[in-house]
Order: sequence, then C-alpha cells, then structure tokens
Amino acid sequence: MYRHIIDLVDSGIVVLNTEGAVVSWNGWMAERSGISEQDILGKDMIEAMPELDNSRIARAVFKALKFNSPSVLSAKLLKTSFPLFKKSISGRSRPSERLVQSIQIKPFVHDDGSHYCVISIFDISSADMREKVLRTQSGVLSTLVKDLQEKEHELRTLFENTQNGILIFDHQGTILSVNPAASTMFQPPEGAEVQLPHQHLFDLFADIEPQQLVDGISEEFMRSLLPMAGKEHEMMAQRADGTRFPVSVSANAIPHFGQPTRFFMFVRDITARKRAEEQLYRMARMDPLTGLCNRFSFSEVLANSVKRHAREQHTLSVFFIDLDRFKNVNDSLGHDAGDELLRQVGERLVECCRDSDTVSRWAGDEFVMLLPQQNQGRSSITVAEKILEAIARPFEVNSNQVYIHCSIGIAQFPDDGVEMERLIFCADQAMYQAKADGKGKFRFFTPAMNDRTLARLKTESELRLALQHNQFELYYQPQIDVAHGRLFGVEALLRWHHPERGIIYPNEFIGVAEECGLIGQIGQWVMVQAFETASRWHKREDSSLSMSINISPKQFQEGNLIYNVRNLIQSVGFPAERLVLEVTEGHFIDDAGESLNKLRTLRNLGVKIAIDDFGTGYSSLAYLRHLPVDILKIDRHFLQSAATDKTDASIVSVIIDLAHALELEVVAEGIEHLSQMDLLRMKGCDIAQGYYIGYPMCIDDLVDWYSSYKNLGCVN
Ligand code: C2E
Ligand code: CA
Ligand code: CA
Repeated sequence: MYRHIIDLVDSGIVVLNTEGAVVSWNGWMAERSGISEQDILGKDMIEAMPELDNSRIARAVFKALKFNSPSVLSAKLLKTSFPLFKKSISGRSRPSERLVQSIQIKPFVHDDGSHYCVISIFDISSADMREKVLRTQSGVLSTLVKDLQEKEHELRTLFENTQNGILIFDHQGTILSVNPAASTMFQPPEGAEVQLPHQHLFDLFADIEPQQLVDGISEEFMRSLLPMAGKEHEMMAQRADGTRFPVSVSANAIPHFGQPTRFFMFVRDITARKRAEEQLYRMARMDPLTGLCNRFSFSEVLANSVKRHAREQHTLSVFFIDLDRFKNVNDSLGHDAGDELLRQVGERLVECCRDSDTVSRWAGDEFVMLLPQQNQGRSSITVAEKILEAIARPFEVNSNQVYIHCSIGIAQFPDDGVEMERLIFCADQAMYQAKADGKGKFRFFTPAMNDRTLARLKTESELRLALQHNQFELYYQPQIDVAHGRLFGVEALLRWHHPERGIIYPNEFIGVAEECGLIGQIGQWVMVQAFETASRWHKREDSSLSMSINISPKQFQEGNLIYNVRNLIQSVGFPAERLVLEVTEGHFIDDAGESLNKLRTLRNLGVKIAIDDFGTGYSSLAYLRHLPVDILKIDRHFLQSAATDKTDASIVSVIIDLAHALELEVVAEGIEHLSQMDLLRMKGCDIAQGYYIGYPMCIDDLVDWYSSYKNLGCVN
C-alpha cells in the first residue's frame, strides 16, 4: 500500500542506501527522468546520472549518509539539478524543458541500524514567480505559527489561572489532565497531594455511578453528561479523604479528528453559595428564637404529610400546645427570661418527640406538633402525658426556678378533618377546652367543641343586634353593711333578654364580647344605665347608696375608659365617691405600670376601686399593698365552706384582718346562709352580698325589695 502511495505522490521520491545505491525510485521520477525503477535499482545514483557528479546534490547526499545531516536545496542556489523534464502530452519527455526543482535530502536510520537517505524532489517550475511565491508562503506560515503560539499562550494562561477547575477526560471517564484550580479543589485539607490524572470521574463525583463509566456504557454516560453543555448542573464532588462539597459543572466534547473524542468539564466549587442559600432557606422557615420550624414551614410539612397519609391510609395527630400563664413570667421576670423559657420549652418538646415528628413554634407561647402514623406503637395520650410532665418540671431561667404548665389540644387525621387548616383549627379548639377545664391538661377534639365554636360565632352576631335592639337590662344585687344591716349599695349585673333563648347570663357572653371587640360599647351602655339609676336614687331615696359596676379587663385596657367615666360623673351629677368600679387582679398582670396609673387617675376623680373575686387567680396579699384600691371583695368560693371548714374560716379571717390593716373595706360575696352572716359578723367583715340577702333584681323588683326590707326592720 505504501509503495502505491509513493507512486501516486506528486513529487519525486528516491531512497539511497548507505552505499548510495538506489533502493526506491518512484513513478514520478521514472516519468520525468525516462529511467525506470527497474533500470536504476541497485545502481549508484550519481554514476547513473553523471551530470550530478561533484554537484551540490552529490555533496548533500554524502553529508546525509555520512554525517546524518539534512539539506534543503532551493531553486535559486541550484547550479545543478536532476535531469528531469516536463511530461509531454504524449507522455514522452522533451529534453528542452528541464524542471525547476526544490530538493530535500534527509538522512534516515532504519530500525536495524542501517543508514539511508531519502531525497524528495518538488517541481516548482510551474510557478513563474517562484521566489516570490516561496517568500509569501513562508511569510504566511510564520504569521500562522505566531498566531497559533499566541492563542496557545492565551489558552494556557487561562487554563492555569482560572478559578474554575477544568478536567479533561476521555470517553471512558479517565482524567487526562487538570488545571491547578481543579487540583486545589480536590485536595484534601490535610493529606498528601493528589494526582488527579488517571483517576476516574466517579472518584471525584459522588453522583456518578461507576457502572455508568465502565465498558461500552461510557458513551451513554457521556450522552447523559452532554446535556450539561452550556448549562450548569449541580452535583456533589468528593475528595480523596471522603469529604464532599457541592459543585456546579458544565461539560462538553472536544472533537479530536481521527482520534477518540475527549471531554472537558468546568467545575465550580459552590460551597459558599450553598451555605448562603441554606441560611436563607433556614431563616425563611425557622423560628429564630427556638430554632424550631416556624408557622409557615410547619403548614407546608403538615399539608404534605396529610396528602401522604391520605394515600397510605395512615392516621396522624396534630397537637396544639399553649403555655399557661406565660405572660406572668414575661411580666415578672422580663422579656429576656420569657424568651429563654420559650427556648427551653422548645427543647423539652423536641425531647418528647421522635425524629419523624415535627415541632414548630406557632406564635408567642403556642407550639404546634405533628405526629405521623399514630397507630404504630404509641398513642397520642402517652405523648401528651409525657409533654405535660416534661413542661411541669421546673425550668432554670436566669438563675430563677420557673414553674409553668401547658394545655394541649389534639386533633386526629382523618377523623377530625382532612385538611391542614381544619386540623390546626380543631387542635386549637381542643386546647381551649383543655384550658377551660383547668389548665395543665390535654383534650382531644370532639364535635361538641365545634358546636361550641359555632354557637360562639352565632352569639357574636346576635350580640351586635342586642345592642341595637335594646335587649340588655341591668339587674341590681343589694349589698348590706354587716354590723348594722343597713343597705350599703348595689352591684349592677348585666342581663341579656335573648328573643329566643330567654335570659342569658354574663358569663356566657362577656368573653365573646371581649373577643369580638364589643365589650367597649356594652361596658359603656352598662355605665350609662347604672349612672342614671344611681342619680335617680340619689335624688329620691338614699343619698348614701353606692353603685358598683363591673369592668372587664379588656374594657379597662381600652383607651377611653377614664374619659367616659369623667364625662358621666359631670353630666349625670352623681357623687363620684359613691361609685365603685370592680376590677380583678387579672387587670394588673398584663402591664403593671400602665394599669396602676389608670387606677390612680380614676381614684383622683373620686371613684372607688374594688378588687373583685379576690382569692382566685393570682391573689397575692403582698401585692395588694401596692394596689391603689379601696375595697376588697372576697370570692364566694371562700365563703362557701368557711362556715363549716376551719381552714377556710381562718383564711377569710386573715384576709379580713390584712385588708383592714391596709385600710380597705371588705365585701364578702355569695352569702347564702345565716351561718355565713354570723361568721362575717364575728370576723368583723364590713359588707355582705348574696342570695341570703337578695338576688340580683330588675330595678322595679329592687324598689319593692327595699321597701319590704325597710319594713322588716332590717335597716338600723
Ligand atoms: P361577679 O362580679 O363575681 O358577680 C357576682 C356573681 O355572683 C353574679 O353572677 C351574681 O348573680 C352571683 N351571685 C350573687 N350572689 C350569689 C350567691 O349567693 N350565690 C351564688 N352562687 N352566686 C351569687 P352573674 O350576674 O351571672 O355575673 C357573673 C359575672 O359576670 C360577674 O361576676 C361579673 O364578673 C360579670 N358581669 C356581670 N355583669 C357585668 C357587666 O356589666 N360588665 C362586666 N364586664 N362584667 C359583668
Ligand atoms: Ca363583681
Ligand atoms: Ca365577684
């Protein structure tokens, strides 16, 4: 095949052995010299062509054979040339037209050590201005070479200095070369320098399966890799020590004509970017205080969980957890302590959970939990009991021991609802029930709670109508002075004449009114009524009677209470000192400073302040000292057993003594029996109120009651 090619080449090729004898003489030579290969083979070339004797050509052949040095004989310098002639059309050569030649003579050492000389002869006679041509050719060539060198230099600089790692690998995934950035990237922080060439891609990328690379599958792998061309693709890279880091890669093929294709891959270490992204993601989904997931991400988790559980027909539970009296901690120990407590509560909740559970901080002191697949070996009851017990253990907050409880409401999927919002709603309702049942408890959602909620909503809309349609009425319950039996005054108690349900008592609707913001209007209505009644009485009957009005905590917090009271006193003309506003201790737990200021302002108007329901809630005798109040109302629960129970009796007597020491008047509520009256008289209580004396009555009944009371001689 080579012989054939040599004959086809458009130049003369002659090979001489070490003696200068011809061993090869191609067709081109035969045609142009008129000497066939057969005729010259084995003969000394110079002898066969006598005009070459002693020529530059003969000397160059000698140099090549003896000194191994090549020569190029350009046409210009050529005094002698090979006796070669232009081919005639007929194929015969004409001696007149000798070829202008360019000759290369190169030594060649064969594998067996023998020396040869290869002579190539080019016909340059066709180019009329051959010198010029030659010069331009070399000029073009050198520019090309220069360009290439510059390009190569640029590329190399880029390759060496770019921050991106560059890997060049073959179609099997074997790495052929890498740039310094890639070496650094894959270098374990502590460890020997790694040699990336000869490693496989799957050594460097955790996501690439070795099977993808072996044998013929490599093509397939490459095809899967190539869609990355131009596009960035994120994967995990790994170093020799097993540490992993996220990278963004893009790969492409380098066409290699006549050779297997090579590939290159740009690798960018995106650890920092990923970290920032993760942080952003966490911040958007995490409650910064407790590190638990926030409302937003919990809703997402629950929604997904509900979908999955519906498919797999599993149950799940949602716990709504609310701390009891958390505000207490916040107000007494400060917000920092409150925050710290919430953080620790979060930790304890997590401790009560399995990994598959999700705990979130819903809002303020509310936490919501998701417990998937409840039927697998644990019940909601066990978890709820565990949580109650965990939260009841004392907390160490800023070197204070804090005791707190929580109330838990539980909703179950799918029994209570199949939608995320509904489940949370039900759990919330159940939590309210748990609180109503005495705190520190857990309750499962029941449809009855739902009814209660609906009833509440109904009450709310009906309350608005009640105001417009005058469905409210004030009842008055008499209060007498214990020592003399004189009427001291009345407490105004609100009644709602519901068109269908009849009389509704305040415990059923005051809460709703507070929640829906109607308490301000209702409270104002109560005050106007009570003031008018009182001023009528004041003019006609007994100028010393007092009027007690209940003020709800929400109403107390509203801005215009003081303004309203002052206005009424001025317009109605009732002496302020006959007016008693009943508040509970709950009023002061929220914002101690501001509430106390309000009380002081009210007292400056001349109004008296009574602490209602004393003995329930936060009752603190020590605290009482700091409250600007005039009257203490002992809750009726104390009085219930006081007549028969020695302990309760002594508590009542301590309260009375202490109140007197603080120069407070004492009212005992809920007096239902004569025995209770006797006890109060004995202990020196000032005022008594209760069914034994008189029920709450409408104004007409009260007038009747009063006249018969006076007739009975109970006054004075
Ligand atoms: P309160 O201020 O403790 O009022 C006393 C409650 O005890 C009244 O219930 C009264 O009817 C009841 N009571 C009186 N004597 C006895 C007795 O001898 N035995 C028993 N077992 N109970 C007795 P009522 O009228 O149902 O009011 C309940 C609560 O609703 C009141 O408790 C008060 O906190 C609130 N309330 C009543 N009227 C108003 C009002 O106009 N505004 C506001 N904000 N709250 C009101
Ligand atoms: Ca009261
Ligand atoms: Ca009371």
